[in-house]
Amino acid sequence: MSKRFLEECVSDAQPSISQWRTSTRRARGGRPKGRVVLVGAGPGDPELLTMKAYRCIQSADVVVYDRLVSSEIVDLIPSGKALIYVGKAKGLHSVPQDKINDILVAEASAGRTVCRLKGGDSFIFGRGGEEMKVLRDAGVNVEVIPGITAASGCTSYAGIPLTHRGLSQGCTLVTAHAEKDLSSNWSALASLNHTLVFYMGLSKLQFITEKLMAEGMSPSMPIAVIEKGCSVNQRVFVSTLSDVLTAIQGKNLVSPSLIVVGEVVSLSSELSWFVTQTQEEIEQLSA
Ligand code: SAH
Repeated sequence: MSKRFLEECVSDAQPSISQWRTSTRRARGGRPKGRVVLVGAGPGDPELLTMKAYRCIQSADVVVYDRLVSSEIVDLIPSGKALIYVGKAKGLHSVPQDKINDILVAEASAGRTVCRLKGGDSFIFGRGGEEMKVLRDAGVNVEVIPGITAASGCTSYAGIPLTHRGLSQGCTLVTAHAEKDLSSNWSALASLNHTLVFYMGLSKLQFITEKLMAEGMSPSMPIAVIEKGCSVNQRVFVSTLSDVLTAIQGKNLVSPSLIVVGEVVSLSSELSWFVTQTQEEIEQLSA
């Protein structure tokens, strides 16, 4: 259904700027140069792809994609297209970044148009800037198609506005990937009066909550953990800084999960609208 809708939408559309640029290059003669398009695939729901992203997936010669790209989006890639998976295979490490860079440079240098497909937005904790820099240094043309980042997509699907008059005047995105990332200025984070969104923070949840409380944030501050947001498997756990670890105990939360801290989280009880079967079960259990 969603695939047909998208196909109908793009079939009448004008050539995109990138297609036009490619055809001018061909018209001037010489071998067409390859290029890489960094495409944000959004947080999971295939209907959150932009038209431009969908078109690039259809028209590229090769798609290089990550673990965070949902299987529904992978299903939209036409069969027969060259596909290179660079995410983590079960129990194994991800393809090292240097190797991914080499693949991108090699594919583009062979004259191909490469769709470099990443979860969310490539420029938000997605190493898009790093890849772009390497490609530019290697003389490869690069374009960027932004995607809906997890902070925006997952909170929307959980009924949590990132900002709300009187509750939150801003939003700060924080990576909790490595210990050094967590050497952030916690007293600033705790006193900003912003909604705080932690990416890659599930395994550091205890550290995050303790740091925020130690820096003066109220133990009753609402917090949400959103697992597999924007998918049929989405689960949203709403609690407080002091109680969240107990609230998620035994729930077997897995990656990808997003942590949202701030008064706006309390709005989810009124505003939540995306109800999956899993979420209904959670609500029945806690009723
Ligand atoms: N470039 C991506 C982020 C990559 S970092 C973006 O813009 O969204 C990976 C982290 O993003 C995950 O550990 C998780 O914290 C978050 N994330 C991405 N997709 C998510 C999803 N569907 N549900 C919950 N968290 C998600």
